Formats: sequence, C-alpha cells, structure tokens
Amino acid sequence: MNQRLMGIGMTSRRTRERMVRRLHDQGIRDTKVLNVMAETPRHIFVDEALASRSYEDTALPIGHNQTISQPYIVARMTELLLQKGPLHKVLEIGTGCGYQTAILAQLVDRVYTVERIGPLLKKARDHLWELKLKNVSYLHSDGGWGWPDNAPFDGILAAAAPQEIPETLLQQMAPGGVMVIPVGQGQRQELHRITYSDKGFEDEVLERVSFVPFLSGTS
Ligand code: SAH
Repeated sequence: MNQRLMGIGMTSRRTRERMVRRLHDQGIRDTKVLNVMAETPRHIFVDEALASRSYEDTALPIGHNQTISQPYIVARMTELLLQKGPLHKVLEIGTGCGYQTAILAQLVDRVYTVERIGPLLKKARDHLWELKLKNVSYLHSDGGWGWPDNAPFDGILAAAAPQEIPETLLQQMAPGGVMVIPVGQGQRQELHRITYSDKGFEDEVLERVSFVPFLSGTS
C-alpha cells in the first residue's frame, strides 16, 4: 500500500482500529463489517484538511452541501443489510464520496451505485479506483428511479431520506431482498428495514437517524 493509503498519525491503521473498537462498543457485532472497516482507509474520502478527523464518529462535509455518513451509521446499515444472508447485487442510492460504496463492494458481489450530483460521483469513482475496487457500477441519476436495467436487487441501501419509501424501489427488490432506508423529514427520521418475502413486504422500524434529504432530479 502506498503512503497515502497507509496513512500516518491520526490517519494510521491504529486510529482505524480504535474506531472499530468504538463501533463494537456501540453494538456493531458483524465481524466481517468490522474487519472491512478496519482495512479501508476512510481518510482518502475526505478533503486533506479534514483527514485527521476522518476516524471520529461524526459526519463531515464533502462539498455540494453533502456529508460523508458517520462510521457508526455506515456500519449499522451494512450490518442490517447483510444480517439475513450474503448478497449478490446491491443498489446504493446516494454515493456521496463513495465510502459506504467501498465498504459494500468488499462484502457483496456487485454494487450498483446512483448519485444525483455529477461531480461527487466522479470523485467517488476515483477513490474506489485508487482502492482497486472494480465490482462497482456507477450511474449519475435520480435514485428515485432505481436502476431498472439492472433490477431486481437483493439488497438496496439508501443514504438519503425520502418522506416515503419510493414505490419504484420496492418494485426493484428481488424475492428475499432487503432494503435499508431512512424515512422522514428534518429531525424526525427513522431507519427502516424492508424485507420482501412470499408473505409480502415486512417493514421494521429501527432507530432514529439524521440523513440529508432524498432530492429529485440531478445536478
Ligand atoms: N454514504 C455516503 C453518503 C452521502 S450523503 C457517504 O458516506 O459519502 C447522501 C448522498 O445522497 C448525497 O451525496 C446526495 O447528493 C445523494 N442523494 C440525495 N438524493 C438522491 C437521489 N434522489 N438520488 C441519488 N442520490 C441522492
């Protein structure tokens, strides 16, 4: 690994291991998720000026009024998505800087990621390229449409909160599929896990969360 990926001081592997111990203390139990987060350099996904804060448990700005999700929420959503068995095709809505994408790409066969802000998608693609993660397909689009050409998906993860779960996304779930999505407005958002079985859609409401809004259109 080159020096930039390895990090130093506040971006070193030891700092990352401290982050992972904290995630464990916060209740994350999936060792596959914890191991991948211990291996993945989070600092390369944020501006250099913020790199020394990249392993704190906070959301940080990534430009265009958006934020990189805090490590706990990335871990928690990934754990919830994978809890019911291994996944092959996962649709991610809201690529942002690509950190969550990078974690998913190491745990599932293929990630299809959709972002509505073009320059963010480009940066994310560069970051994943630098990490040599090649099992990812990228789309500049409004994720409210999902990705019909590649549907159905056995996992869907959204990193932005719609007021209601888009019908189109439900239609793109494979039988047995799982979707993890924040729903609600402003401070009143809750994380949902939808499971699609032969009995229909089961909706579990999990914890209070705070995400950027799910917006329509592209820019
Ligand atoms: N997991 C990402 C989170 C980024 S924030 C990370 O850690 O960096 C959420 C992202 O969702 C933003 O980049 C925002 O532009 C994007 N977004 C919001 N609404 C969207 C939509 N309808 N379609 C696609 N992306 C959307």
